[in-house]
Amino acid sequence: MKLLFIVMDGLGDRPIPEFGGQTPLEYAKTPNMDKLASLGMNGLLHVIAPGVTPGSDTAHLALFGVDPHEYYTGRGPFEAAGIGLMIKEGDIAFRTNFATVNSEGVIEDRRAGRIKKGTEHLAKLFEGMTIDGIEILLEAGTEHRAALILRGPGLSDQVSENDPHVEGKEPLVFKPLADTPEAEKTARVLTSFVMKARTILNNAELNREREKEGLLPANFLLIRGPGKVPKLPNFEEEYCLKTACVAGGGLYKGVGRMLGMHIIEDPRLSGGTTTDLSAKFDIAQDALTNYDFVFTHVKGTDNYSHDGKYKEKAEFIEKVDRELYRFLPENHEGDLVVMITGDHSSPCSFKDHSADPVPILIYSPDCRRDKVEKFGESYAVEGSLGQPLGKHIMGIALNEMRMVHKFGA
Ligand code: ZN
Ligand code: ZN
Repeated sequence: MKLLFIVMDGLGDRPIPEFGGQTPLEYAKTPNMDKLASLGMNGLLHVIAPGVTPGSDTAHLALFGVDPHEYYTGRGPFEAAGIGLMIKEGDIAFRTNFATVNSEGVIEDRRAGRIKKGTEHLAKLFEGMTIDGIEILLEAGTEHRAALILRGPGLSDQVSENDPHVEGKEPLVFKPLADTPEAEKTARVLTSFVMKARTILNNAELNREREKEGLLPANFLLIRGPGKVPKLPNFEEEYCLKTACVAGGGLYKGVGRMLGMHIIEDPRLSGGTTTDLSAKFDIAQDALTNYDFVFTHVKGTDNYSHDGKYKEKAEFIEKVDRELYRFLPENHEGDLVVMITGDHSSPCSFKDHSADPVPILIYSPDCRRDKVEKFGESYAVEGSLGQPLGKHIMGIALNEMRMVHKFGA
């Protein structure tokens, strides 16, 4: 028995007056999800705990049965792992932007004009750099994004960032956030690194070319989201499942990689609201031949939520639904458990995440069906799964896979 786990980011929502009081998921025409809901078990999921609003990072840890209160140290490590940096336990990892500062040292653009090309060449200029015996690793991601790692003894993640999160201001000064030599050393290393980086980037050939073309130079690094790389449980060892991660966003790939999943790399997997969903679910379907457990993440739902675009969110859910025909019992060879949920609610009226629980459906060929016939917030509350916590759902799915993890004799 195999498991397909589909997470639609920010799926849950609140009633939309223009939809006659239905949520985008309820309003959307989703015959395939409805079929799986009617043949399966339904519930409303408190991803971390009732009343707790998850970030996408902590939410995914919880969905994979890893307690974020115990293991989450900040977003940096997951972003770094997602970009592909080989991180080690104890490294201090940061999210980083290539940015533009003017000659007065004021931030002109936090994303260096959304630089498209060449940041990997810029990152190469830092190869082999050490400061105070600390190794510096910089890796470029997509567009302006990058990840930074400090590796060596006596470091701490208790440091402030230099990103003021607005343009027209000077970058902030790194400060230790704890009264420890480690925090002070880390702030010192970062300060010295950013100064060196500015000189290196100012002299970079690529930036001269950009200026000639009238583009903003990527001449500064904004550094944020520090976290000490934690040792996470290995998913494959924990559950004895060969797992694959089908995701486009660096964060999701990073969570998967840190839990020991095989990351499927394919340029068609990323794109948020413009992702080629047909390609994404083709890839997920293929992965099910070689892997026992395939985690598939779609981001568009959350992106539309942050923009308050409820119509587009509903349409995007319909697009996802159209791709799910291949996983219906009549179209799929071999026994398959399908679990579909969100990592949190993102009500379009909030334009942000909320603590509202998210609908979840779990279908398996011989599960105890409940009376729920459609996939949606107000239907799910009637389902047989009740209101489980995120950390419980892997166990529930494993039980459907007949992989019994017995507690007691
Ligand atoms: Zn999310
Ligand atoms: Zn979000």
